[in-house]
Amino acid sequence: MEEKTPGRQLREALLNERKNGWDVVDEATQRSISDYCEGYKAFLDKGKTERDCVDYTVELAQAAGFVPFERGMELQPGAKVYRVNRGRGVNLAVVGSAPLDQGVSITASHIDSPRLDLKPAPLYEDSELAFFKTHYYGGIRKYQWVTIPLELRGVVCMKDGSIVRVAVGSHPGDPLFTIAHLGSDQAKKPLGEAIPAESLNILVGSRPLKDDDGKDRVKLAVMKMLYDHYGIREADFISAEIEAVPAFNAVDIGFDRSLIGAYGHDDRVCGYAGLKALLDLDGVPVRTAVCVLADKEEIGSEGVSGMQSAFFETFVGDLCASQKVPLRVCLEKSFCLSTDVTAAFDPNFAEVYEKNNSAKVNYGVGLCKYTGSRGKGGCSDAGAEVVAYVRRLLDDKGVLWQMAELGKADQGGGGTVACYMANRNIDTLDAGVPVLSMHSPFETVSKLDCYMTYAACKAVYQG
Ligand code: MN
Ligand code: MN
Repeated sequence: MEEKTPGRQLREALLNERKNGWDVVDEATQRSISDYCEGYKAFLDKGKTERDCVDYTVELAQAAGFVPFERGMELQPGAKVYRVNRGRGVNLAVVGSAPLDQGVSITASHIDSPRLDLKPAPLYEDSELAFFKTHYYGGIRKYQWVTIPLELRGVVCMKDGSIVRVAVGSHPGDPLFTIAHLGSDQAKKPLGEAIPAESLNILVGSRPLKDDDGKDRVKLAVMKMLYDHYGIREADFISAEIEAVPAFNAVDIGFDRSLIGAYGHDDRVCGYAGLKALLDLDGVPVRTAVCVLADKEEIGSEGVSGMQSAFFETFVGDLCASQKVPLRVCLEKSFCLSTDVTAAFDPNFAEVYEKNNSAKVNYGVGLCKYTGSRGKGGCSDAGAEVVAYVRRLLDDKGVLWQMAELGKADQGGGGTVACYMANRNIDTLDAGVPVLSMHSPFETVSKLDCYMTYAACKAVYQG
């Protein structure tokens, strides 16, 4: 061994020198990373909507011994329960050995992603082409959604209470859909204005109904197919939630396969991390571990299925009631890792990042003391004590982590569910996987960072 110079020793002792994760992890961890990411890719392909994510989550949870939590149920330490929120969100818990007045350890993420929703009256015909009108959901860049293959997933809720599941494009041989577009005039406009929202109309057919002399023969032909296949009429779209999502599955990126490209990393990459860590918990944790997968984060966490909903209190409150513990006593002792993607430093657009405080691909899970924008506006800004707690927790468990900011001050920014957890008197810190091309139809993350986020969630549950 070469002897370290005094300068080198001093540097190592005093400075926070960041290391690429691949230089740190051993071979066994590399195999774990690879195995973990195969499971994650399957989760992405099955869960392209929040409803699909919930269904697959329940499937995985039941296979791991979780049962639906009924109010009043007796809960022994080690009990594994879940409750679904209207098909669009789910909370899961593993009951700990400590009573609930000691608080719970939470990871909270969201499973909705930016996309195009069908309008209540979507189907129309123009110039002998049939289209679905859409209303975009979340912070999409509209120009990225034209001329890519799209699939349709969702539900049609019938007046008689039955629910018809729609999934076109996810099975081999299915037709796909797309939004056509011409470029020459748009090319002269700023990117953000080139594709108006009302031009995001999905092409769904072009063949007119034969032997008919009425108008809208292409529209009628499409509606007939939908009726024949699903039993739905035009008016049934009014009580439907059908989402157009990119029609490509998760794939490895790079010659070294070190990255994953997919639709919906934001925020299923953290949702899966929190879920898988809970499913993989060995034995009984000391504090009760709670995994929250919420809906509607991309539009402000509002509504009955968003993080602001009382669904969370109701779930934890019902857990507390089984031990006669007041909910407020439990919450004030609780900790939440709010897991959502953060911006990864992109050297091709370096000007929007502040290099010293940006997360880097392959440097581990990113911890965000604050998100928000325009001077931390709208964020919960975790206390330094809370950050210290998480530093210790992750270092003790050998989890690779880094600090992260969402781009330059006054340039980047964004929100997560953290403030809604903190508002409940829960110490909360943001953390998540650094992502490239956030909110695009095809986002990129590092496999190592995905795994370290899973490891961070596990460390939180284990306390
Ligand atoms: Mn997010
Ligand atoms: Mn987002």
